[in-house]
Amino acid sequence: MTDPFDLEHIWHPYTSMLNPLPTFKVKRAYGATIELEDGRALVDGMSSWWCAIHGYNHPELNQAVTDQLQNMAHIMFGGLTHEPAIELGKLLLKITPPSLDKIFYADSGSVAVEVALKMAVQYWAALNKPEKTNFITTRSGYHGDTWNAMSVCDPVTGMHQIFGTSLPNRIFVLPPQSRFDGEWNPQDIQQLKLQIEQHHHSIAALIIEPIVQGAGGMRFYHPEYLRQAKALCEQYNLLLIFDEIATGFGRTGKMFAWEHAQVEPDIMCIGKGLTGGYMTLSATLTTKQVAESISRGEAGVFMHGPTFMANPLACAVALRSTQLLVEQDWQANIQRIEQILAEQLTDLAQLDHVADVRVLGAIGVVELTTNVDMKTLQQQFVERGIWVRPFGKLVYVMPPYVISDDELHYLLAQMSEVVKNMQGVNANVLA
Ligand code: PMP
Repeated sequence: MTDPFDLEHIWHPYTSMLNPLPTFKVKRAYGATIELEDGRALVDGMSSWWCAIHGYNHPELNQAVTDQLQNMAHIMFGGLTHEPAIELGKLLLKITPPSLDKIFYADSGSVAVEVALKMAVQYWAALNKPEKTNFITTRSGYHGDTWNAMSVCDPVTGMHQIFGTSLPNRIFVLPPQSRFDGEWNPQDIQQLKLQIEQHHHSIAALIIEPIVQGAGGMRFYHPEYLRQAKALCEQYNLLLIFDEIATGFGRTGKMFAWEHAQVEPDIMCIGKGLTGGYMTLSATLTTKQVAESISRGEAGVFMHGPTFMANPLACAVALRSTQLLVEQDWQANIQRIEQILAEQLTDLAQLDHVADVRVLGAIGVVELTTNVDMKTLQQQFVERGIWVRPFGKLVYVMPPYVISDDELHYLLAQMSEVVKNMQGVNANVLA
């Protein structure tokens, strides 16, 4: 099943080259369907890691790429500009927090995070506080795999011990425990408060995924945490960076997750769903005040400029994808998905080997009591005609928004069967 060349020579994400997990060869994908080379069709529960919000092979997104291709696939952004970058920028400023005013286009989510961290350091250097270079963040976070992005990921799931002293040392606090839909526990903010009080002289910014901690544990936390974190940042002169790379473009039921708390960051990273999953593009947005301060600093410029910055093909498809989203009643659609997720997953919480079930927007999470055997589970999902890729203790879905009721019911029924059948099957469980 696995392609022999692929198995021998091609590295997949987080995969051993001695004992790689099987891969399934995809022939094509359309709507919420992934078609394998052997003809099997799978209902997609992953949106290719939060990206393919409008599903695959979307005629209008295909058209946007095709049209742009007639003009140019790429052009350098140093000294030159183009319509797709400008029009996309105008639209992004309409849907992101009102205080954000300047846009830096980058290549991927991780690079957007690098850019955000660099902006924060350059900002304080420009304000004559060059000692403010460190970052504070919560455990269970995930911000990407490049060097500094990795340094602010959860130290355990981010495997900081592998990289030892080569990774900069960041300040970590416990993640908020109060659930999104539960009571706010004032204790939740205490550790952040203490650490900021103690270390604010050396801290440039707090970086956090608002409301949903994604790859670090799929945790949904209380909006009050963000309100109090923002107040602390203001009190102690820290910039606030929101990583909305996973939460953006409607996924949590709001266009961006900051809206749940009505707290605006100083810097915000977006990516993933930005291009509807067509190509890699991200953006780091900031306020006029941060951008102008950086520009008044010693360097006089912001020191970053990737080769493929604002790639026109990516900007053109991002523009069309974002237009498609805002032109429809996307809130009603996310509510439809949320309702079906809640209806079909909630009962799984009664199983002994299920620790928790949670749903927010178009995200459904089943947290087990032990780690899953990804290889076995993935095989079972494919045999049942669905694409779900679990990790750690988490079996979760975040389907493309175009998924039909029938497809979603099928996806969740099959996923639930697999989860139910895991009961007592310890051979399937890696301790
Ligand atoms: N931040 C968050 C919150 C993410 O979920 C991810 C990707 N899973 C990243 C950053 C990194 O994005 P990329 O993989 O595009 O570099």
